[in-house]
Amino acid sequence: MNPTGLLEVTAVRRVTPRTVRVTFTGAGLAGLEPWPDQQLKLLFPPPGRPVRLPSADGDVMRWYQAYLAIPSEERPVMRSYTVRSRDGGTIDVDFVLHSGSAGPATAWASRAAVGDVLGRYGPDPAYRRPLSTTDILLCAGDDTAIPAIASLLSEVDNAVAFVEVADAAEEQPLPGEVHWLHRDGAEHGSRLLEAVRAAKLPDGSVAAWLAGEASTVRALRRHLVAERGFDKSVIEFTGYWRRSLTQDDAPTAEDLADAAEKLGDSAGWKGN
Ligand SMILES: Cc1cc2nc3c(=O)[nH]c(=O)nc-3n(C[C@H](O)[C@H](O)[C@H](O)COP(=O)(O)OP(=O)(O)OC[C@H]3O[C@@H](n4cnc5c(N)ncnc54)[C@H](O)[C@@H]3O)c2cc1C
Repeated sequence: MNPTGLLEVTAVRRVTPRTVRVTFTGAGLAGLEPWPDQQLKLLFPPPGRPVRLPSADGDVMRWYQAYLAIPSEERPVMRSYTVRSRDGGTIDVDFVLHSGSAGPATAWASRAAVGDVLGRYGPDPAYRRPLSTTDILLCAGDDTAIPAIASLLSEVDNAVAFVEVADAAEEQPLPGEVHWLHRDGAEHGSRLLEAVRAAKLPDGSVAAWLAGEASTVRALRRHLVAERGFDKSVIEFTGYWRRSLTQDDAPTAEDLADAAEKLGDSAGWKGN
């Protein structure tokens, strides 16, 4: 399947007060292989202009160079999202309308309408990760990680998930064992950290999947390695967003250290 193309909105609905589910159709989606945690880059056009796609296909590096070569006034804004579900030639993407100063993706989602067109890169099977083969899969994340956690929970029957959301109204029906944590005004990530630190995990080998706000993901990973003795290779982790920084801002020293660690583990998620 060509991992790049256009997406057209065919439906928009609020699934919770702060989550907008957008259904897209587009060439190539029908041939998309199913696998859990399908990430994609969405390209948002500048106001009043059609979305302009980079003209290189295939290799992601060439595609990214072509993206950067688009003149800045025409270059779409790029943000990362996850396929929430798919049905034949359509995909659903859930946008969290976050409380941070609204970035372009959140602003777009809050007024998305049938007929709107975005660009995409992905989902790309090159980024498909093997599922863990441990006895238990521990998933932990915030609202932005619900699409990925939902897809993991529907693939495995040995997962325990901890999901932090703004409040009870943000819970969504998910399969399997899910512990919902409500911020209810508390600091972002604090309830999730508390719950994972206090969790009594079932006996057996455990792998972990962590995503959400970057400093919380780091703290969770540190806890699992330093206090629970997890081997780093059994932890899949991604900082999805950073406090006070947009996805366009340069990586911090901590982001670069995380990226280096992930590259070191690029042989695959050794969850066994
Ligand atoms: C692999 C991957 C998959 C992802 N999947 C999803 C998904 O399926 N659904 C989803 O909603 N998000 C998902 N995200 C997170 C999403 O890409 C970010 O939240 C992104 O920053 C949103 O773009 P924006 O234009 O709204 O904000 P930006 O322009 O990037 O940031 C603007 C401001 O908003 C703040 N901010 C950004 N996100 C949040 C947040 N969640 N809560 C509070 N403040 C925030 C930033 O700190 C910044 O101050 C994913 C991220 C990655 C890397």
